[in-house]
Amino acid sequence: MDLSYILNELGENRSDYYNAIAPPIIQTSNFTFPDVESMRRDMLREFDAHLYTRGNNPTVEILRKKLAALEGAEDALVLASGSAAIAAAVIANVGQGDHIVSVAKPYSWTTRLMMDFLPRFGVTTTFVDGTDVQHFERAIQANTRIIYLESPNTFTFELQDLAAVAALAKARGIVTMVDNSYSTPLYQQPIKLGIDLTMHSASKYIGGHSDLVAGVITGSNEMIRKIFYSEFMTLGGIISPQNAWLMIRGLRTLPLRLERSARSAAKIVAFLEDHPKVKRVYYPFSPTHPQYELARRQMSGCGGLLTIALDTDSLDRVDAFADAFRRFILGVSWGGHESLVFPSGIGYSKETLAPGDTGFTLVRLYIGLEDPYLLIADLRQALEHI
Ligand SMILES: *Cc1c(COP(=O)(O)O)cnc(C)c1O
Repeated sequence: MDLSYILNELGENRSDYYNAIAPPIIQTSNFTFPDVESMRRDMLREFDAHLYTRGNNPTVEILRKKLAALEGAEDALVLASGSAAIAAAVIANVGQGDHIVSVAKPYSWTTRLMMDFLPRFGVTTTFVDGTDVQHFERAIQANTRIIYLESPNTFTFELQDLAAVAALAKARGIVTMVDNSYSTPLYQQPIKLGIDLTMHSASKYIGGHSDLVAGVITGSNEMIRKIFYSEFMTLGGIISPQNAWLMIRGLRTLPLRLERSARSAAKIVAFLEDHPKVKRVYYPFSPTHPQYELARRQMSGCGGLLTIALDTDSLDRVDAFADAFRRFILGVSWGGHESLVFPSGIGYSKETLAPGDTGFTLVRLYIGLEDPYLLIADLRQALEHI
């Protein structure tokens, strides 16, 4: 299925709604039935029917079809946030006494899920450095049910070899899942490499306009159906039809937005790597990245999120740098139209700074859709504060 067809046609039965080019927002909680017999039938097959919007909603279904096809998966679920999607996918695959092997330092709330939430239900997690597949192998126990990946992560951009981890897990009947938010399905397709489930924070590139929070799970019909009848329906963290519609609209321009963000990021990485005040640039498609070969092999593109280490030992200087921007905006998140700066120095104070801890020199930049030369000029003047 070609990308243009998925984004512009798939799932859109326009003759059902006056041949309107934009799909309707079916803003309804419930659906009605002409007779008892059809109601009885659909009560027993909610995954395939229209009964109640916590289950299936037609606007959301259009989106699900597109997201599944983009990822090369059989089916998809859309949830209220990336964190809801990750939690549902993980919880669906563990029970009392089970064990997870996770890549070290996944997204902050994924870490909280594994360190604080799941232990309350007897589920434990071992975190491993994911740059070597043997680390996963060594951490596997008899009760390991999930290998959890996030490749790359969105701060220091370490990768995992998805095909190698998938092969290792398959041989032992362990479910693999990856947070694919950074790459989107356009730049990395883990299902095709043998991974069972992918999750996305659609609040980032997929939504793409900094106006919604949403999450996605994709996988086989069997796994998606299982999650639907357990975590999806019981925890009920669904997306509203309105936000699903915004995501469909966002998807129409995903390739254009990604391409622009990635092209600008490449120019900005080149500028930063030459700059004397920048010690290091963390970016998977930079030849200086320690896993550059793997990045080129398993990612077909690289987005606009990167991190720099500033050449300073002063938290004040890092603060002054981050305060100096005129185009980049201070803020969390990424993947929207606007360029953002996130200094890890916000987690530090001069009073508590441990000697030798240089973590505060890391600043994450998200390259949005603005003119890259204006962004470079902004970076140049901000770097004068270092
Ligand atoms: C933002 C983010 C999440 C969480 O998604 P929300 O939509 O904010 O709940 C998970 N993983 C990664 C990599 C993210 O960047």
